[in-house]
Amino acid sequence: MAAYDYDIGIIGGGAAGLTVVSGAAQLGARTLLIEKEKELGGDCLHFGCVPSKTLILTARAYHTMKNAQAFGLPAVEVPPVDFVKVKKRIQSVIATIQKHDSEERFCSLGAKVELGEPAFVDEHSIHLNGQRISAKNWVIASGSSPQIPPIEGLNKTPHITNKEIFSLDRLPASMIILGAGPIATEMAQAFSRLGTKVHVIQRSGQILSKEDRDMADAVTQVLAAEGVIFHLNVAVLDVKDSGRWKEVRIQNKDEEVSTLKAEQILVAMGRSPNLEGLHLEEIGVAFDRKGIQVDARMRTTRKHIYAAGDVTGKFQFTHAAGYEGGIVVSNAIFHLPRKADYTFLPWCTYTDPELAGIGMNEKAAKDEGIEYTVFTETFQDNDRSLAEGNRTGKIKMLLDTNEKPIGVQILGPHAGELLSEWVVVMSGKVKLSTLADAVHPYPTLGEINKRVAGAYLSPKIFSDTVKKGLKFFFHLKGRACGPQTRHE
Ligand SMILES: Cc1cc2nc3c(=O)[nH]c(=O)nc-3n(C[C@H](O)[C@H](O)[C@H](O)COP(=O)(O)OP(=O)(O)OC[C@H]3O[C@@H](n4cnc5c(N)ncnc54)[C@H](O)[C@@H]3O)c2cc1C
Repeated sequence: MAAYDYDIGIIGGGAAGLTVVSGAAQLGARTLLIEKEKELGGDCLHFGCVPSKTLILTARAYHTMKNAQAFGLPAVEVPPVDFVKVKKRIQSVIATIQKHDSEERFCSLGAKVELGEPAFVDEHSIHLNGQRISAKNWVIASGSSPQIPPIEGLNKTPHITNKEIFSLDRLPASMIILGAGPIATEMAQAFSRLGTKVHVIQRSGQILSKEDRDMADAVTQVLAAEGVIFHLNVAVLDVKDSGRWKEVRIQNKDEEVSTLKAEQILVAMGRSPNLEGLHLEEIGVAFDRKGIQVDARMRTTRKHIYAAGDVTGKFQFTHAAGYEGGIVVSNAIFHLPRKADYTFLPWCTYTDPELAGIGMNEKAAKDEGIEYTVFTETFQDNDRSLAEGNRTGKIKMLLDTNEKPIGVQILGPHAGELLSEWVVVMSGKVKLSTLADAVHPYPTLGEINKRVAGAYLSPKIFSDTVKKGLKFFFHLKGRACGPQTRHE
C-alpha cells in the first residue's frame, strides 16, 4: 500500500474546509489544511456573513433612531454616519470570531496548517512552497469569488465587491449596485439606511429571482419606500469613470437609454469558483464555470478527491458548506457512504423584513410540475409583530396532494429564526397537528407557525360533518348569535 504524508489534505480554510479539518483531526486522521490567506475563516467570516450581518444591525439601529417618532418617542436629528467607526465595529466582531477559527485551535485538534497556494502534480500530490506533499484523500474547499461580468468599461472603472465594501474609509454618498440577489439586496438596504443614495440595477423584472414573485416584490416595496431606487428590466450598456462620478448607462425594454451617476459601483452579480492554480485539468477533476462536478457523496470525478462548499457552485451558503463538509468526513474518514440531501436546506436573506425559506416555494413546485395548496397567515394578524410596529409580511406553507408540507417561506421580522421550527418539522417529519397543538408563548412572532398549521387543520375540525355529528350525539342547538338571531 502506498505511503502518503497525510490521510487527508484539505485546500481552503473556510466553512467547508474547517468542518472537514475539525472532524478528520478529532477522529485521529493525519490531517493537513492549506489556506492561501494569512488567516483562517474564509469568505463568511472576513467578507461575507459576519461583516454583512454586523453592518445590517448597525444600519437598522440608525434607521430606528431616525424613526424614533414611530415608537412614540421625540423626533431626533441624528448626525451623519462615520463609516470608520462602523468599520471598526465590523472588524472587532470578526476578530472575536476569528479566535474560534485560529491556526492554534486547529493545531490543538491535531491538524497541521500550512499557508500557501498548492498545485496538484499528480492525483495524490501537490506542490506547496517548494515541497511535494501527498495525501490519501484530498478535499477541495477553496470557495468562490465575486464574478465580474464582461460589461464594457467595467474593467477600467474602479468598482467594489464584497471584498472591499466592509472596509471603506467613508460612507459613499451614492452607490450603484449591479445585481439584485441576496448580497445586493442586503447591501442596498443597509447602505441606504446609513445615508447612501442607492440604485439597484437588475436585468429581470424581479429582485431575488429564486424567490416567489409576491415575496420578492414585497421586499422591493419596503426598500423602495425607504429610498432605494430600483431599475428593473434594464440592460447595462457600459460603465465609465468620469473622474468625479462613476457612470452606468442602462437601457430599458422600450430601448430608452439613461445614465446613472454615483460615487461607488458595487458589483454583486454572482460568484465564480476559486480554481485558479490548482491544475485540476491535469489530474482529471472535472469542472465548469459554475464549479467542480461532484456526486451525492461529494466525490469529484477522481473518487478519492472530494469537493465541498461554494466551489461546487451548488448551494452557496455557509450552512450548506458545513453540511457538505460533514458528508465528506462520513465518506472519507468513517468510510460510511453518506449522500447529501438538499430537500430541506433552509436559506434566508437578511433584509428587514427577512425573507427565509425551506423546501419548495411556488416557483420551484411549478417548475417541477408538483401540485400544491398554499396556506397563508400574515404578520398583521400577529400581536407581537403589531406591538413591534411591523405590519409587513406573511408565511406561506405549501402542502402536496398528500397534505404533506413541501415548503415554507416566511417574509417578516426574524424570519430566519422563525424558520428553525420548520427545519425540525420538515426534516423530522413532525405532523402538522403536533405543531398546531403545541402551546407557543404569547405574544411571540413564532405563533405564526402554529397558526398556519392551524389554518390547514381548522376546516377539518370545524367541518359541517363534524358539526352535524356533534349536533346529533349531544343535541347541540346551533348558533346563539348571527345575522338571523341578532336583536336589533
Ligand atoms: C456578502 C456576503 C454575505 C453572505 N451572507 C451569508 C449568510 O448570511 N448566510 C450564509 O449562509 N451564507 C452567506 N454568504 C455565503 C457564504 O459566505 C459562503 O457560502 C461560504 O463562505 C462558503 O464557504 P466555503 O468554505 O465554501 O468557502 P470560503 O468560506 O470562501 O472558504 C474558502 C477558503 O479557501 C481559500 N482558498 C481559495 N483558493 C485557495 C487556494 N488555491 N489554496 C488555498 N486556499 C484557497 C480562501 O482564502 C478561503 O479561506 C455570504 C456571502 C457573501 C459574499
